[in-house]
Amino acid sequence: MTSPIKLLALDGDGIGPEIMVATLAVLDAAAKAFGLKIEIRKMDIGFLALKASGTTMPPGVLEAAKAVDGVVLGPVQHDDYPPTDKGGVNPSGVLRKELDLYANIRPARTRPYVPSPITKTFDLVIVRENTEGFYADRTMFAGTGEFMPTPDLAMAMRKVTREGSRRIAQSAFELAKLRRRKVTAIHKANVLRVSDGLFLAEVRKVAKAFPDVAYDEKIVDAMTALLIRDPAQFDVIVATNMFGDILSDEASELAGSLGMAASLNAGTDNAVAQAQHGSAPDIAGRDIANPVSLIGSMAMLLRWLGERHTSPELLKAADAVEAAIEATLEDPNTRTRDLGGTLGTKAFGAAVCAKLIG
Ligand code: ATP
Repeated sequence: MTSPIKLLALDGDGIGPEIMVATLAVLDAAAKAFGLKIEIRKMDIGFLALKASGTTMPPGVLEAAKAVDGVVLGPVQHDDYPPTDKGGVNPSGVLRKELDLYANIRPARTRPYVPSPITKTFDLVIVRENTEGFYADRTMFAGTGEFMPTPDLAMAMRKVTREGSRRIAQSAFELAKLRRRKVTAIHKANVLRVSDGLFLAEVRKVAKAFPDVAYDEKIVDAMTALLIRDPAQFDVIVATNMFGDILSDEASELAGSLGMAASLNAGTDNAVAQAQHGSAPDIAGRDIANPVSLIGSMAMLLRWLGERHTSPELLKAADAVEAAIEATLEDPNTRTRDLGGTLGTKAFGAAVCAKLIG
């Protein structure tokens, strides 16, 4: 690639700034190792921005996000933000809606050296629809999908569209072709006959176009048990927004530390790397957070960019970052505290850099 890749880095709240420092250090090392030209712009969001400019999502951030090739987003503590009229806006929701990041790709797998609450091993990816479903902040053209017609009645609208279902299914099947060639669709069509009926109809249509990918369906409540009882049977799981959110938290918990859970929010023209976990205020500012989640998310972004720009260097850099993470984790001397190690966030980042450059 001749022109530089432009990225926007948004620290977010809690452990965000710390895991971002480690992530950008690894990105810098990967750029050096593979001769990549990467320009990084930093902007403030979250509580820092609220203090400085009265809003958690200052004007200009969205425009900057649209203008760059990709965004690296730290976790945000949006549950604790003030109401919207006092400047509390969820930057993650805004980016997902405004950049139309319809596919939230959430890998989860067990590793021999990470203690898991179950003895079974697995390696799966949850492909979660990211712009529809029950998410009141992003499903409407104007207003919100949650409302109270009377003081004693609260209602939430769930949005499922044919196109939204088709495109998330397409993402899932394309991913499955690169993996173990199996897609499982999650639904509750026995109760939500119309909305999940529409979702399943579209997924089945896409499945027909991928005859070499095995396809099955599971009801969401049964799925929560199956993930514990027999997770190895799953490869790519495709789900509407809230079912995908809940199942991916379960899968990352079963895989061990939340600090390992990477994810990518991808649309047609934009992508945002974002750890699966929240801002972890309980461990913020102590240099003990595990930055693997955000470093791994950044590697997913490099791969997405590599495919988009047909750049072998970016693809190699993505593979190398993931290999460096694994090599660092395999050594008991270079693990963070959540994995029983002693390294701080910054030192772990430096250890990954050393594997990349060394
Ligand atoms: P939020 O309000 O932003 O959702 P939270 O603390 O409620 O934050 P998470 O941030 O998802 O939710 O954290 C859940 C638990 O997992 C916390 O105990 C937290 O310390 C731990 N945790 C989350 N991320 C990491 C990480 N990167 N490294 C180590 N522990 C983590």
